[in-house]
Amino acid sequence: MPKITSQGQITIPSDVQKILNIDSHNSQDLYFKFEEARRIVWISSTQVSYPTAIVSISSKGQITIPKKIRELLRLTPGIDNILFHIVENNVYFEKELEVVPCQICQGEGKFKEHPCLVCRSSGSIKREAVMDELSRLLFVARKYQVSIQIKTESLNIPEAKFFSSNYPSDVLDVFQDYYQMRLIENFAPKSLQQPDKFMHPTDIVLEEILSLLKTNKAKEIVQRWFRGEGNVFSLSNT
Ligand SMILES: [Zn+2]
Repeated sequence: MPKITSQGQITIPSDVQKILNIDSHNSQDLYFKFEEARRIVWISSTQVSYPTAIVSISSKGQITIPKKIRELLRLTPGIDNILFHIVENNVYFEKELEVVPCQICQGEGKFKEHPCLVCRSSGSIKREAVMDELSRLLFVARKYQVSIQIKTESLNIPEAKFFSSNYPSDVLDVFQDYYQMRLIENFAPKSLQQPDKFMHPTDIVLEEILSLLKTNKAKEIVQRWFRGEGNVFSLSNT
């Protein structure tokens, strides 16, 4: 599992180099193509059309991850790891993300007998930024006969609206609230003194925030975030 150095460099594992036919005596170009739906980057040693980036690989098998790719994957040099995957003689890499059990279906893959939309029936989710999670979801939502609208109005907190004739509304509301809570967590103004805490909203603003949510359970949790002990909420404990 190669870690990106603080200069943004990684060494490509030897089994991957073999698949890519890397010539260890010469430097050569590699073509990177970002696939948005899965947030992965395909690598090819033969030219591809419209590559996201072209990098040269040194004879030692080292490459520098281009800035554009680092931004697309939100990779932090010196911190993040990259995972390479080989699929039928093709190679892609992705940012290593912690995999955790899905909290909506408790790892069952089903919620109230319906396929869990949050983990796509897998029972586990990758811990990542909410906008990344939503962008993955948007690509597969149609498969679940769900349509999603995201818009930002007065609050500066994006509002997610889920529509489906496939799921009963009480089930869909739980899915929608999961993402809406994460959007609130991410976008609600934070305290300037303590950036890990929310800014204290007025009652009117809090009411507006709570109106983004469907279920009473979600409303109660979010209310506690803003009106909990000392009127501040620590983002790490839900
Ligand atoms: Zn699930």
